[in-house]
Formats: sequence, C-alpha cells, structure tokens
Amino acid sequence: MKKVRVRFAPSPTGPLHIGGVRTALYNYLFAKQNGGDFILRIEDTDQTRFVPGAEEYIIEAFQWLGIKFDEGVGIGGPFGPYKQSERKPMYKQYADFLIENGWAYYAFDTPEALDAKRKEAEAQKKTFQYDATTRGGLCNSIALSKEEVEAKLAAGDPFVVRFKYPADLDITVHDLIRGDVTINSNLLDDKVLYKSDGMPTYHLANIVDDHTMEISHVIRGEEWLPSAPLHVMLYKAFGWEAPQFAHLPLLLKPDGNGKLSKRDGDRLGFPVFPLQWTDPKSGDVSSGYRESGYLPEAVINMLALLGWNPGTEQEMMDLDTLVKLFSIENISKSGAKFNLEKAKWFNHQYIQLASPERLISMFEKELIKHDVAAEPAYLQYVADLMKERIHFIPEFWEQTSYFFVAPQEYDPQAVKKRWKPGTAEHLRKMMNIIESVQPFDKETAHNQVMEYVQGNELNMGAIMNSFRIALVGAAKGPDLFEIISAIGVGETASRIARAIQTIEP
Ligand code: GLU
Repeated sequence: MKKVRVRFAPSPTGPLHIGGVRTALYNYLFAKQNGGDFILRIEDTDQTRFVPGAEEYIIEAFQWLGIKFDEGVGIGGPFGPYKQSERKPMYKQYADFLIENGWAYYAFDTPEALDAKRKEAEAQKKTFQYDATTRGGLCNSIALSKEEVEAKLAAGDPFVVRFKYPADLDITVHDLIRGDVTINSNLLDDKVLYKSDGMPTYHLANIVDDHTMEISHVIRGEEWLPSAPLHVMLYKAFGWEAPQFAHLPLLLKPDGNGKLSKRDGDRLGFPVFPLQWTDPKSGDVSSGYRESGYLPEAVINMLALLGWNPGTEQEMMDLDTLVKLFSIENISKSGAKFNLEKAKWFNHQYIQLASPERLISMFEKELIKHDVAAEPAYLQYVADLMKERIHFIPEFWEQTSYFFVAPQEYDPQAVKKRWKPGTAEHLRKMMNIIESVQPFDKETAHNQVMEYVQGNELNMGAIMNSFRIALVGAAKGPDLFEIISAIGVGETASRIARAIQTIEP
C-alpha cells in the first residue's frame, strides 16, 4: 500500500476557524494511526486575500494544541517549498501541458465582456456558464484562429487558462465518507486554472502540489466537495492516480441551523478560533480558546467528537487514544452541532486531570495577572480545594481570590438577605471562640462554633453566610473552616472586624 501522506492546506486569509482545526486534527489522527506523514502547506495563491499574521497564527495555534506536522511551512522537508507562492515557477509547465493536450485553453475575455454575458443571461432568467455550449462564442483559443491567439499572446494581452470539460460526461468522485458522488459535466463551469500573471488558481496548485507531494488522502471540509469533480478530472487529464477523498461534515451552529460562524461565537459567548485574533485592518478582537481558559487537550477532545465517535460511549480521549481509535468509517455524513455545555464539561474534566505541577503553574500565571504571589504549597492546597469548581483557567482567580486578598466589597444582595440586626455581635463572639482554640484546629473550632449557634438558637444559614460574606465578600465558597484554616485565624479576625465596620458603620 502507498504510504499515507496527508496535508492540511489552509489559505492565510485570517484566523483559523475551529472547523479548520478539526480538519487538521482528523488528518493528523489518520496519518499517525497509519504511520504516515502530516504536512502543512500554505495555499496563498490568491494574494488579494492574503492577511498579514495569518500564517504565523496558524503555526502558533497548532503549537498550542500540540498537533505536530512532519513536514511543511516552518519545518521544511523533502517536498518543499511548502508555500505555494514560493512554488510559483513550477506551475506554468502544468498549465502548458493541459493546453497542449486539449484539456485547457486560453481565454482572453475581459471582465467587462463576461459581465455583459452574465447580465444578458440574467435578463433571460438564466445563469451564464463558461462551458461547451458558450465557449464557441467567447474570446478564447477555441473560438479564435491559431494566428489570432498567437498575436494576442505575443502582444502580452492578459489571459486566463480554463479547464475544458468534455460535454455531457458523468464525473464520479469516490468519497470515503459519502460514497460515490456523481455530477454531469454540463452543469460545470470551465474553471480558471492559471492566470497571465503566472499565478495558478487554487485548483491547479492544489492538484499539482498534492500529486508532487505524494499525498495519498485528501481529507477536507465539505465546502470543497463541489470542487472535487474538477479535481478528479485534472488527475485524469494529467494521467495521475488521484488520492482518496474524504469530505468532512460541516460544523453547525448550536441550534443546528446553518454553518457555525464567527458571529455565532460572539453572540453566544464561545470562541470559534483557537487563539485570540486581532484583525490587522479593523483592530477588532475575536476571542480564542487559549485566552478564554481552555486546555488544549479539552479543545482537541471536544473537536474530535464533533462529527466522529469511537463507536462506543467513551468520551474522554487524549491525543494518543484518539490516534488509536480514529476511523474514517465512523465520521458522520451529517453536520455536527457545536455544543458549548459539552466544551465546558471537557475543560472541567481536563482541569481535574491536570498534574499538580501543571495546576500550580496555571494558577500562578493567573495570580501574576493580579499582582499576587504565593507559595507553591499554598497554591496546591487551594487548587485541591477549589479545582472541582473550576471550568476555565481564569476562574483560578475569580473563584479563589479571597484566599489571597481580603474582599474589597460585599455582595449587597447577600448582605441584605443574611445580615440582620445582632449579626455583628454574634460574629464577634464566634470569632472569640475560634481564637480560643489553641492551637487552631478546624474540627474543634467547627464543633465549638456549632454549639454556640445551636445554644443561641441562631438561624444557621443566616449566621454562617454572614461569616462567609465577611471572609469571601459573597455567600459562596467551600467549607468555612477550610477557608479559615487556609487564610489563618489572624486574617479571619481582621476580615470580620472590617466587614462589621463596613456594613454597620
Ligand atoms: N486552501 C484550501 C482551504 O483553504 C484547501 C482545501 C483543500 O484541502 O483542498 O481550505
């Protein structure tokens, strides 16, 4: 069997959509499962759509995700260069070959002339198509004489090279996910393959590169299925063996109505890009999974299951497990709905699984953002106590800040609900009890405070939550005596005093 070689071939036209990340992931899993190579090729033939920073962004995104390429831009390899703009000189010979062998032709039609044809067709409620029925009446090397064509080429008239579909031919794409997909050539437009500025279009460059890079399988998004018949024909025209095709289902909006777009993410509060992206022109910032506090393995696990399943109920799968379990047969044909709750669930699971060292390091980075430093052992203690409540990395601060700094304000609603006349006096007494437990021991302190609460027939919920408001600033957090033992009795006393002073001035 031919060696498995697959590629991810993004165009650097902006940040990488999470659907593109999934395409790359499936390619990676397939390559690794089969001992094959995974290649990064940058398809930048359309210079008008080039966006500065996009290529670097793509590379950084995969570095963050831990998905490694074997060859490609930024890595090198025996089939380079891997950026199409750097391969520019090699495409002309292939365009020439197609023309010489009757598979393509020169077309000199001006944009205005084509526009007029389109309008003419529209007036008759038709769509203009450059094909076997219209070629003869247009300005190209089929309609013009040999001399006219030569004269135009010699004069340097701008031209494009178009593919010449044979009329009325059924073209079948064998797709590993969808089975055979057949379309008649009469429905297809003679696509542009090459332009007089020496640049190939996506179609020509893609096929030439896939062939010369010995790509065995083309695994890409469903949006490329309409291009596949042309690609199949190009392989035939060149006399090359075509790779196998697999077109992946779309990623859909959470409600299933249409393709997941950048706007959905902003509207529904989840990122659609792996990393944060600042548009170089508008300055608009789009959120990224990394900056939103996702762990890369959670993103990978979540994406892997959007359109594929292992055939069992298993959900938690790291990259190595995915490599073992992945199969193209288990990719679904229908679109996969994005599920924010599931994404959150995966992230939570992976935070629970993170090693102590990694937890501490993530924790420290969040604290540094707030100018707070702490001993690793203390961080470990707080992390163990709190990680169960954490879904996203920034919550390492949001959910635990009171372990490091006293609350600056008190949740007014909690105060209104819990803080009653007499609360201050009871808190002072409870504090005295806690201080009298020498040395401090959370169980003894807890038991004695309970005796006080019961002996005075206090409302347990109200009084304990008032205590909590003083320490945390809100009616939330883990067991109160865990907090006291973490921050210390002295700090507890000063927070109680401060709360009383602030709430009952
Ligand atoms: N350059 C195309 C893209 O941006 C690649 C499509 C393909 O994989 O053939 O997705």
